[in-house]
Amino acid sequence: QGKKDGRGTYRVFKSAMDLELKARAQLESELREAILNGEIEPFYQPVVALPEKTLIGVEVLARWRHPTRGLLTPAHFIAIAEETGMIGDLCYRLLRQACLDARAWPAHLQIAINISPQQFQDRWLCERILGILTETGMSPARLEVEITETALVNDLEAARTTLTSLQNLGVRIALDDFGTGYSSLYHLRELKFDKLKIDRSYVDSITMSDERAKLVDAIIKLSASLGLVTTAEGIETDASVDWLAGQGCDFGQGYLFGAPMTREAMGVLLASPPEAVQAVLAARQAA
Ligand code: C2E
Ligand code: MG
Ligand code: MG
Ligand code: MG
Repeated sequence: QGKKDGRGTYRVFKSAMDLELKARAQLESELREAILNGEIEPFYQPVVALPEKTLIGVEVLARWRHPTRGLLTPAHFIAIAEETGMIGDLCYRLLRQACLDARAWPAHLQIAINISPQQFQDRWLCERILGILTETGMSPARLEVEITETALVNDLEAARTTLTSLQNLGVRIALDDFGTGYSSLYHLRELKFDKLKIDRSYVDSITMSDERAKLVDAIIKLSASLGLVTTAEGIETDASVDWLAGQGCDFGQGYLFGAPMTREAMGVLLASPPEAVQAVLAARQAA
């Protein structure tokens, strides 16, 4: 009796696994096609200088415009792209598209791109990035590369070489999601970054009474004393941006100033006179 039940359960389990493997294999081949067909497109999220809240640049965030499932966020495909080695292809295409889009924007606007740990191991990373910048006529000074500490744990010397070559081109390096996962002072001691991005788990709805506020304050001071600038990501409230600006945080990013948007929406935002752009950002804040 027990055995029979057991076998039945096993059969159900196995077919569920088959289905999952099938779904996964399908997603993988769809993703491969999607990258080739340009279904992965860059969305752009505003980054503002504090305390003025003037637009100084955007972060490029990948979105998959799936033919049947709609718009998919990175949580649906970045991990698979990494595991299957497609991430490089995906990100270089995204960077190329972002550089092309940025040609229509004011020349002072910066663009920041995320480089995943797996892609960071590409020994031709720097050459490929330079190739894309050259081909699209984009100045390296406008580009910022965001990496997380996960990218640095394997081989510190290789990481140092890659970071230094990028910085020698004039590209700036931001340490993303600071305060999560592997975060330690070790990488700040051993490597030279240009910017530190405080993870949004510290930032969302922060208030002065919050315990996290003490950590954020300390991170901002630490960053400044090392000669880095600081961005707070995930700013959603008026009170938090005022507090962050008061602590000397240099840049801010978050739904308060705008969610990631299409190139068309960026075009509309930038087509307005500069004062109007500030008004839009301020109005979002008031809303
Ligand atoms: P990230 O680089 O830390 O990007 C910030 C994430 O926070 C984005 O999520 C953004 O939409 C979200 N965000 C921004 N402001 C707010 C806010 O006020 N509230 C909340 N709740 N969320 C906010 P997204 O676009 O889903 O991307 C998630 C992660 O996927 C990124 O985290 C990055 O690690 C990765 N990613 C995105 N695009 C790429 C890419 O092109 N290449 C690689 N390698 N990774 C990417
Ligand atoms: Mg400032
Ligand atoms: Mg990022
Ligand atoms: Mg982040």
